[in-house]
Order: sequence, then C-alpha cells, then structure tokens
Amino acid sequence: MNEKLKPCPLCGGKAIEHWYENGNYQIGCNNGEGLGCNIRGPVRSSREKAIYVWNTRPNEAGVLLKKAKKFLSLLQSCVKRL
Ligand SMILES: [Zn+2]
Repeated sequence: MNEKLKPCPLCGGKAIEHWYENGNYQIGCNNGEGLGCNIRGPVRSSREKAIYVWNTRPNEAGVLLKKAKKFLSLLQSCVKRL
C-alpha cells in the first residue's frame, strides 16, 4: 500500500512518515534541511490510520477564519447594545 501523502496543511511542505519502535506511526511536516514547519499529525497504531488522519486534517486556516468570523459577530452584537 502506497498512499500518497498530502502536503503540510500549514506550510505546504513535504510530508514525511515517522514510525516508532512500539509500532506506532505518525505523519509530519518535513524538517530536514531546514524545510517545513515540523508539525506532526496524531500518532496512530498503523501506517494506514496515520496517513488517513494526516490526509483528512481540517484546513487550519479555514478553521481559524470561522472562529474569527464568530468572534467578530459577537463583538458586533456587543457594540450594538452600547
Ligand atoms: Zn509544514
């Protein structure tokens, strides 16, 4: 099985696989040669699961934008009451 890894959702850097002696897997952003932001996805018990959670991560920028919009509308409703 050779599933393609999506690029890092934060910096667009190349994703690399990490595996541990206890059999767990994790996908992270490449930090070799000073490239990438070195974030890592959740640790999973199999390579397939680690790749799945990495490839289906929510877009952090989109999530932040949603929070910012919610905060802005709260702020506007407070201002209206003044
Ligand atoms: Zn990155």
